Amino acid sequence: MAVEKKAVLMREQPAEQRIKNFNEVPLGYNEAEAFREASRCMQCAQKPCVEGCPVRIDIPAFIKALKDKDFQKAIDIIHENDSLPCMTGRVCPQEEQCQAVCVMKKVGDPISIGRLERFLADRDMENRKINKARPAAAAKKKNKKVAVVGSGPAGLTCAAELAKMGYDVTVFEGYHKLGGVLVYGIPEFRLPKAIVQAEIEKLQELGVIFVTNALIGRALTIEELFKDGFEAVFVGAGAGLPNFMGIPGENLSGVYSANEFLTRVNLMKAYKFPEFDTPVKRGANVAVVGGGNVAMDSARTALRLGARHVYLIYRRSEKEMPARIEEVERAKEEGIDFRILTNPVRYIGDEKGVVKQVECLKMELGEPDASGRRSPVPVPGSEFKLDVDEVIVAIGNTPNPIISRTTPGLKVKKRGEIEADENGQTSMPGVFAGGDVVTGAATVITAMGAGRKAAAAIDKYISEKK
Ligand SMILES: Cc1cc2nc3c(=O)[nH]c(=O)nc-3n(C[C@H](O)[C@H](O)[C@H](O)COP(=O)(O)OP(=O)(O)OC[C@H]3O[C@@H](n4cnc5c(N)ncnc54)[C@H](O)[C@@H]3O)c2cc1C
Repeated sequence: MAVEKKAVLMREQPAEQRIKNFNEVPLGYNEAEAFREASRCMQCAQKPCVEGCPVRIDIPAFIKALKDKDFQKAIDIIHENDSLPCMTGRVCPQEEQCQAVCVMKKVGDPISIGRLERFLADRDMENRKINKARPAAAAKKKNKKVAVVGSGPAGLTCAAELAKMGYDVTVFEGYHKLGGVLVYGIPEFRLPKAIVQAEIEKLQELGVIFVTNALIGRALTIEELFKDGFEAVFVGAGAGLPNFMGIPGENLSGVYSANEFLTRVNLMKAYKFPEFDTPVKRGANVAVVGGGNVAMDSARTALRLGARHVYLIYRRSEKEMPARIEEVERAKEEGIDFRILTNPVRYIGDEKGVVKQVECLKMELGEPDASGRRSPVPVPGSEFKLDVDEVIVAIGNTPNPIISRTTPGLKVKKRGEIEADENGQTSMPGVFAGGDVVTGAATVITAMGAGRKAAAAIDKYISEKK
């Protein structure tokens, strides 16, 4: 039988409907669709997709099990390397990783690996809800305590791995809610919060203790954690400090960092104000600055809050945008006005100090810069203004310095990232780190991979400690 060249499409909410709600946009495969898509996999011998996956999931093996309708085996294979598949199936940039190297690409669409992963993970989650008879594997207790700082994907993965090995793990989270960027950054319409909650419950079943409103560096220092009997500490504190361009007008009212804007909406449920306490400005004409996932999420959130017009201002061309291609496509379908090769130079306010215009310069592409992308060069005399009443700046984040400032001996790089080797070992014995706090803003799967490696290194460190 000839192999189907086209991937099975995933159903999704139509653009005109979804911009009026915060519900998830893609609806996932049903069993028949997943089976059809899995049947396209050629089970090639060289398995480039496994190499393309940052956590090396045995992708052909789980697809084969799915094709054989052995759903339990399929999800067990994924779980060997990925403890949060409901999330990675949704937000991993598969088009740049496993799917980018899929052999099927030579003749047609690559296999939709992420969609298949999502199908299996969602099915498993539903089953767990109905059938509580599959308790998490109970490891023999080691009676040794490990502290994890931060409950994002790095911290959650490290905690899960250590709990499975039998450690007593306590996760300290600065916010009142668990999940890191998965909860306060990525909006509900891309990653429903109930899914993150279900994954956290899985960890609670494993015996992990979560302490919220516990900002390490304030409530307790790392040194104090050791005094409290923790034998090792994993720092997965992310990169939550927003960057600004340093241009005039950034302190005008109505100019937000994407972090603040998305945290207000996602974590504090500002879109339900006054039912929830925290307000957020609902701009009519909004400018979002940046070209990554954070910028797309901010633009699409502003639209759902009722904006009439949302500009997305990005200084390079669309080809250089770091956002996932499918999210760029969805943003366009929803009517976001892409102003590429454009850079803001100042924000102009009214007499009350509220932003009312953004002045921009046109750009053209020059020589490649350190990132390998062609650098934007201003076009002299190309200034123009856009009328806006809200600006959201989404141009990257760096780690918050609170931990490094309160932990003498912990080495950090120039932009505040903690120095750690490939196993997460920092400059301090017993202190490990991974995820965005080490790499700077990156991806969910790389953070998870780092959490997993650090768990193995922590086990080795504690086992070998005299
Ligand atoms: C809006 C947005 C959209 C994104 N979209 C995608 C996407 O589509 N695909 C993708 O792969 N990646 C995406 N990313 C990036 C991805 O979410 C991050 O790379 C990932 O979450 C990093 O995980 P982490 O565990 O290192 O840190 P985080 O997820 O940032 O978690 C760190 C946690 O530590 C807590 N913390 C910080 N300091 C302390 C302290 N001192 N004490 C206690 N707790 C502390 C924080 O409150 C937070 O909960 C996106 C990021 C954002 C902001």
